[in-house]
Amino acid sequence: MREICGSCGGAFVACPGAATHAYMASSPGCWEAYTAVLAREYQDPLLFGRCHRLTVDAYAVQHPGDPGERRARQSFWIHGASLWTVLRLGRAHAEATAALKRLAQGDFPAPPPPVGFAFTHADVLAAPEAEHEQHVRAWAEAALAGCAPAHAQFAALAGQAE
Ligand SMILES: [Zn+2]
Repeated sequence: MREICGSCGGAFVACPGAATHAYMASSPGCWEAYTAVLAREYQDPLLFGRCHRLTVDAYAVQHPGDPGERRARQSFWIHGASLWTVLRLGRAHAEATAALKRLAQGDFPAPPPPVGFAFTHADVLAAPEAEHEQHVRAWAEAALAGCAPAHAQFAALAGQAE
């Protein structure tokens, strides 16, 4: 049985009662699938280096969580700024990671509602492992595109972090 995640809209195997993240809101099956994506990357250092930044950022902006929770708001904005740094400014993943650390202080507003996501990590997992990197890139692009109402602030934060 499949269940739609209320945050990213992906269809995942239903895992009633299974654990989810502390502040990124998802269905249990969505979180389970995310850990499977991470496992693929952890077992291959080359893949990890090419994908992990985008994987973590894409998941975070697609799962903003409770806007009343400071960590949830911060997660959305700093991971969005990181996606902007890599995908729109063309910077290296390590630069985005460093920028993200500089942005980790301070408070952030509630994320605007997304416009919808054409691609999730369900699509990454459904693809052959040999094509993991290109699908992670498509996922990250779709995650950023779906957050269009936040783009101006992502750009401003990315600029601020430089
Ligand atoms: Zn989800």
